[in-house]
Amino acid sequence: MKEKPTPQNILFNRREVLSSAMMTTAGIAALSLSTERPAVAAERDHPFHPLEKFKYDLGASQGWSGKGGSAKQVNVDQFPVSKSIAGVSMRVEPGAIRELHWHAIAAEWAYILEGNVRTTVISPDGQADDVYFSVGDVWYFPRGYGHALQCVGPRTCHFLLGFDNGNFSEFGTFSITDWLAVTHPAIAARNLGISVSALAGFPKEEAYIVPGTLPPPVPSEPFRGGSVPTSQSVHKFRMAEVEPHRFPGGTERVVTAAQFPIQTTMSAVLMHLEVGALRELHWHPNADEWFYVAAGCCRVGLFGAHGRHVVDEFRPGQVGFVKQGFGHYIEQLGDEPTQLIILFNSPVYQEISLSKWLAGNPAQLIADNLGVSQTLVDQMPKHWVGIFGAQK
Ligand code: MN
Ligand code: MN
Repeated sequence: MKEKPTPQNILFNRREVLSSAMMTTAGIAALSLSTERPAVAAERDHPFHPLEKFKYDLGASQGWSGKGGSAKQVNVDQFPVSKSIAGVSMRVEPGAIRELHWHAIAAEWAYILEGNVRTTVISPDGQADDVYFSVGDVWYFPRGYGHALQCVGPRTCHFLLGFDNGNFSEFGTFSITDWLAVTHPAIAARNLGISVSALAGFPKEEAYIVPGTLPPPVPSEPFRGGSVPTSQSVHKFRMAEVEPHRFPGGTERVVTAAQFPIQTTMSAVLMHLEVGALRELHWHPNADEWFYVAAGCCRVGLFGAHGRHVVDEFRPGQVGFVKQGFGHYIEQLGDEPTQLIILFNSPVYQEISLSKWLAGNPAQLIADNLGVSQTLVDQMPKHWVGIFGAQK
């Protein structure tokens, strides 16, 4: 009996075949191009260096772990190519609190993967919010807004955080306990309206994630109308609830500043790929792409001009980065559908796919460009496909 393919052995077997083939062609192409063609101005931004590593295994990293939860971080220190976006995978125990804090250099975006989370947020105009989030919900806190998170149970929550700055560090943010601990006691006591002696019981350093008291549970009674949509709140967007764009091989749910006005520096796509699907060759004219594999496996091909092309395979918990304008595709792998959470460092989502491009050109021009017959060109897609279904 044939061994059932697991994500691991699929990844291993195909990688062997790919790596030798890719390295040979990429090497030859880079050599011949560098001697035959002078670099034009635009190309000097991307000299003939090998493409930077575009995968980071966030799930397998060490991270921080404490009584109330854990956090794993990826920023430019671990993943140098990702200059515009950083990420954190965080788990918080029921009742525990990621303490009051703010981020000086980045806005915070989140997607809830498991469990229920409550956040409080204060904006500069003094307006406060106290919102509950469940699986599939998104939050966005503009740079510098004060916030806190709490797991509301009944089980551990897990969420993915994205930040619009690759230099962001979760372990270098501005926390209330850190601030009060280093401030002169007379000043801290005066500001809090308490006696200096009462400060003795405060944390002596940054608390970060602390155990806490379970708040009331998430209201779970749905509207009688079942699918009646509730209005979106300022900091919360129910991403999993929006009507997806449907393609032959999967779906995309897109959230930009158009749907979620506070999200002014980023946009996101929740991509579902059916078994055997292919997110076709495409690029994003206006933004870098940072993606996290939430479920299933995939293979990503990255095109960086000058014959530069790399292919790598991704498992759940791994992160990838595609520079603005770089060509790429995503091929679903394995027996389980694949889900990706994709972030862009622009409030506007733009993409151009190969099918869209070919459909938008005269047949003769395409035939001449590729040196093939019009009959062959006629077989090519005549409309935007986006995600191809499994091959018959
Ligand atoms: Mn935060
Ligand atoms: Mn893309």
